[in-house]
Amino acid sequence: MVNRDFYDCIIIGGGPGGMSAAIYALRASIRTVLIERGVPGGQVTLSDEVENYPALGSISGAELAQKFALHAQDYNLEIVSQEVSELVPGLAHHTVRLADGETLKTHAVIVATGGSPRKLMVPGEDAYYGKGVSYCAVCDGFFFRNKTVAVVGGGDSAAEESLYLARLASKVYVVHRRDKLRASMILQQRMLADPKIEILWNTTVEAILAENDGVAAVNLKDTLSGETRRLSTEGVFVFIGFDPNNALVPAGVKVNADGYVCTDDKCETAIPGIYAIGDLREKYARQIVVAAGDGCTAALAAAHFVEMRRSHEM
Ligand code: NAP
Repeated sequence: MVNRDFYDCIIIGGGPGGMSAAIYALRASIRTVLIERGVPGGQVTLSDEVENYPALGSISGAELAQKFALHAQDYNLEIVSQEVSELVPGLAHHTVRLADGETLKTHAVIVATGGSPRKLMVPGEDAYYGKGVSYCAVCDGFFFRNKTVAVVGGGDSAAEESLYLARLASKVYVVHRRDKLRASMILQQRMLADPKIEILWNTTVEAILAENDGVAAVNLKDTLSGETRRLSTEGVFVFIGFDPNNALVPAGVKVNADGYVCTDDKCETAIPGIYAIGDLREKYARQIVVAAGDGCTAALAAAHFVEMRRSHEM
């Protein structure tokens, strides 16, 4: 049962998870298409440097993303550049609706939609996005050469990005709500050793203030004393985690309290033939290598699922 609109496997999302799934699915000879609404690569393209993808040493995020895409191209991966508007599960097949109205049918769907940066939700954040407020140091750091910036957060992203920004800016304040960083020890050590980085412990950003339509300062609050003060800064980089992009996850699929999709060890959701991988999936470590591993697992499981479906159709 193969026609133009019927696939064995549809992968939604072209980050490391989706691309790895595509490589494994195509090597398993199942008819596969990958649908990506933007430029393939996912969040990794926003990283200046990736140092923990095994066997590659240090590599830029953009180059790593390109390597994933080139590898998938070796197997002639079909990519559709479209937004998926809906995933409708079915007993005989699943249906993927695209924003342009096209409808694709498939045995298996691998959802690899990742996550989006979490917002601070403070006054000024939305109004001055692009005018000093940013969620991507690699994209916007250049505009803050020899300027003062504030980074919000205490995880791996805040640590990596503040180290990157310290190479460009004259001063980097890291505003963290606790007295301990969540970032990995190696990054913490580098941050503490960087003379341009100053960590403001037990501190939150209460508001982002502007002058002449650009960020000029933040209002800070000491979480222990309750005292507030104004800190002059021309940039505010927010790295306080991600929220999973779970809008396409159909009803009937279990998600945890934070919105991450619960799967079994094959990355399969509660609906047979629908898989969730990468940053969308509930798991312990959110790493590029884990997303790639998820892609492998889901694609092998999907190939087996397709084989079973085909044998029932015969
Ligand atoms: P994260 O690990 O969830 O850290 C978020 C940080 O922001 C935490 O320090 C948290 O504070 C703080 N935070 C959360 N909500 C806040 C709020 N409303 N106001 C102020 N601060 C807030 O997020 P992430 O750094 O983006 O990393 C996400 C995942 O990707 C992690 O699993 C991380 O290990 C992984 N990652 C890995 C690498 C790498 O290995 N190279 C690079 C980037 C990300 P608390 O600590 O108090 O909760």
